[in-house]
Parts: sequence; structure tokens; C-alpha cells
Amino acid sequence: MKKKITTDDVIKEVSEMLAEADGDFLEDVANACLTTKVRYLGDGWCKQGKDDKVPASDVIAQISDVLCEADDFFIEQIANSVLINKVQYLDDEDVFEQEELKPQAKYVCPHCGNTNSLEVVVRVWAKLTQNDNNFQTDTENIEDTSHDWDGNSLMRCLNCETSGKAWDFFQK
Ligand SMILES: [Zn+2]
Repeated sequence: MKKKITTDDVIKEVSEMLAEADGDFLEDVANACLTTKVRYLGDGWCKQGKDDKVPASDVIAQISDVLCEADDFFIEQIANSVLINKVQYLDDEDVFEQEELKPQAKYVCPHCGNTNSLEVVVRVWAKLTQNDNNFQTDTENIEDTSHDWDGNSLMRCLNCETSGKAWDFFQK
């Protein structure tokens, strides 16, 4: 599936992505776009040119500004180094085409194809309480709350009531 988006959309997506990106990645993109050299210092701060410190958000704003002025092929190049959903410039003015990647589920019901009504049996640690011949388990107040399961764990689909081993649900 592909959708058409405008140059403004592309720039907005790039800015949003950079705001979430780690420092090294921001540094790479900044140095591909900006004329003053940027080094990421950590904690949301960069060193830019001769300035002591500039907030990473300033660097992102500068990248957006440069992209607003840039030609479409440069925008395409930067966007494709940043975005997961690749964009392609169409010869139309200000229009890009973007691939819409479907989120891929690894576990799918083999009978009805459902991906969001699946349950799996997990092993968890429980605190054991014993009084006389009465045993109780408590899974709430424990240190290790990890859920352990693998391909041999029992999985079921609540949509069609199919059940089987988890690996039977796994998309190869
Ligand atoms: Zn099902």
C-alpha cells in the first residue's frame, strides 16, 4: 500500500522521528544537512560549531528549516535515512509517495488468521504460603515478575477457539 503525502508531511515526520532518535543518529543527520558541525553531548544537548551547548531540539529545528528550503531529492535522501516507511519523490510538485508498512505480527491464528485475540500459557514465579494442609500461591508480591514461554507453550485464539503449541501459530 502506498499513500501520497506532501513535502510538509515528510519534513514533519522527519522532525518527529529525530526527536525520538538517539544522539548518534541525530548527529549523523545533522552533519548531513547542516553546514556547522554538530556533536551530540548527551542528555538532549549538542555542541554546534563554536557554541558551547545547544539543545538537541534546536538542532532538530535547524534540520527542519534546511529541509524546508531543500530540493525534493535532498529531502527524499534525508527522509529515507530517517524514516522506516520509505518515501519516493514524484515528479509532481511537492508530492511524495510513501510506503505504508503493515505492522507484521509474528504469531497468527492458523485457523482464522487473528493476531490480537491470542493468549499463551506462561510460567511465572509465585510466592508459596503454607498453613497446615492449605497451600496458596501469590503472583502479585514477587520480585521476579518475568513471564516465561516458548514455542512449546500452549497458545489459543479466543476468536475461533483454536488451540495448539505456540510454534503452530508462528509465521515462518
Ligand atoms: Zn482463530
